[in-house]
Amino acid sequence: MDKIDFSLWLKEMDLAHPLVIAGPCSAETEEQVLKIAHELKKTDATVFRAGIWKPRTRPGNFEGNGARALPWIAKVKEETGLLTTVEVANAQHAKLALEFDIDIIWIGARTTVNPFAIQEIADALHGTDKIVLVKNPINPDLALWIGAIERLYTANIKNLGAIHRGFSSFKKTKYRNNPQWQIPIDLKNKYPTLPIICDPSHICGEREGIFEVSQTALDLKFDGLMIETHFDPDNAWSDAKQQITPTRLTEITKALRVRKGRVEEKDSVEKLSNLRAKINILDQQLIDLLSDRMSVAEKIGLVKKESNVAILQRARWQEVIGKMVEEGVSSGLSAEFIEKIFKAIHQESIEHQKRIVNS
Ligand code: PEP
Ligand code: MN
Repeated sequence: MDKIDFSLWLKEMDLAHPLVIAGPCSAETEEQVLKIAHELKKTDATVFRAGIWKPRTRPGNFEGNGARALPWIAKVKEETGLLTTVEVANAQHAKLALEFDIDIIWIGARTTVNPFAIQEIADALHGTDKIVLVKNPINPDLALWIGAIERLYTANIKNLGAIHRGFSSFKKTKYRNNPQWQIPIDLKNKYPTLPIICDPSHICGEREGIFEVSQTALDLKFDGLMIETHFDPDNAWSDAKQQITPTRLTEITKALRVRKGRVEEKDSVEKLSNLRAKINILDQQLIDLLSDRMSVAEKIGLVKKESNVAILQRARWQEVIGKMVEEGVSSGLSAEFIEKIFKAIHQESIEHQKRIVNS
C-alpha cells in the first residue's frame, strides 16, 4: 500500500499543544485510577492511559486486573471528562474495550510483532470509529510496524496512529529500549499524515531521561507524547522506575519547546530544527559506532597478545585505508578527508590495543 488516506482525527481534536496521554503503567485499584485521573485533569494531559492486561516479561509479577478494571476507566471519563485509552492484546480484549466505550485503543509492542494477533484484533475492531494506536514492534523492523497499520486500515479502521516506544537490543544501552529514531522518521516519510506519538517512558526505563527524549520527539515533529504517570511512582506495581508524578509531568510539558517560528519564516525554522535534530542523532550514532569499533579492536589486541604478534600489521592497514578511500570517494567524500579520519581512528585503535597487549 503506497498511499493511505488516514483520517485527520488529531487535527480535529484542535489541541493547543502536542497531544499528551498520561496515566499509570497499570490500573492497580479503583482508588488509584481515579486519584491519578483527577490529578491529571490539572495538567496538559487530555487522554488517560492505564494498562489493565499487562504483558510481563516473566511470570509471577502483577499481570493487571483485567476486565474488572474497565468500569474504573469508564468512571474516569465520567468524572473527569478525560478521554481514555487501554492496551489490547487479543480479540477478546478488543471487544471488551469497545463495549466499555474506551476512546482510544492501543496495541502493545509485544503484539505488533505478531501478524496473527494483529489480524484477530483488526477483525474484532472492524470498521470502528475509535482511534487505534499501534506501538512499534519490540524488534527494529519497520515493515512489521507498517504491516500492522495496514492490516488495521484494511479492516476499515481509519482513525489510526503510531506510538514509538523504542526497540529492544541485546547490547545494553543507556535506554531501556533504544529509540533508533531513523525508524519512526522513515515511518513518517512513508505515511506523512499518520499521527505519531512518542512514549519516552518505555524508551528511557527511568525518570531522568524523559524530558530529553520528549524534546527530541518534538524536535522531530512528533504529534504527541504518552508518559506514564502515578501519584506514588516508587510504589507503582509495574514500571516503578520510569513513572513520574502529575506535578513533574506539568514541569516537563511547560519546559518543552514546541518549535514555532514567526509566520514568514516558519518553514525555514521548522526545516532547520528538523535537520539539526537529525544531525544530533547521527552524531550520537557516530560515537556509538566508534565505540563499537574500539571494542572490536581491543578483542583483536587480545588475539595479538596471545599469539605474540606486533600491533601494527602494515599490509592490513594499507588494505583498510585503500578500501575506505575508495568507498568514501564513491560516496562523495574527499580522499583527504577519509584519510584524515581513518588515520585518527587507526591511531586510537592502536592506543586501545597497546593497553591490552601491555597489560
Ligand atoms: C505499556 O505501555 O505499559 C506497555 C506495556 O508498553 P510496551 O508495549 O511499549 O512495552
Ligand atoms: Mn509500562
